[in-house]
Order: sequence, then structure tokens, then C-alpha cells
Amino acid sequence: MEEEKEILPSEEFLNALVQMGFPLDISKQALIQIKNESLSAALDIIPEIQAQRDKNKKPETTKIKIVSYQCTTCTYINPEGKGVCDICGQIAP
Ligand SMILES: [Zn+2]
Repeated sequence: MEEEKEILPSEEFLNALVQMGFPLDISKQALIQIKNESLSAALDIIPEIQAQRDKNKKPETTKIKIVSYQCTTCTYINPEGKGVCDICGQIAP
């Protein structure tokens, strides 16, 4: 009987890959696929994972719109996701 074990990506390798500029989810997938064998093995497989993802991607969903909002108090335009205004501290609408 085979035991199914979940492989967790090595934090050490994962940090190294992210610092090299690879996306976190792709780095994780690479480490799981190579079972944390080595950093160079991960680097070998990352382009393949990226190529596969690019294939599955729809062009329209790759565009990320950054929606900003204008503060009602000081009219400063804050980036999306801000809970309070960067300038005056007014709570976002
Ligand atoms: Zn403001």
C-alpha cells in the first residue's frame, strides 16, 4: 500500500527562487515537481512550467487593471487596496 505524502517546497529554495525574480506559485510548483532535489533542478524545470502556464492563459485575463480611487477629502488619487488615504488618512469609500 502506498502512502500519499504531500510534498512541501523547501523554504530555502523557495526564497532563493523568489529572490531571483520567479513568481512564488511557479517556484513552489517547480520545487514540488523536483521534490526539493536541488536549486539547479528547479531552475531547469521553471521554464517548462512557465511555458505550460502561458499556453493555458487567455490573453484577456493576463491584463491586470489597477483601479485607483480619489480621496473625497483631499482629492489625492490612491492606489487600489488602500484602506485609508495616503495623504490625509481619510477612510476609503
Ligand atoms: Zn485624502
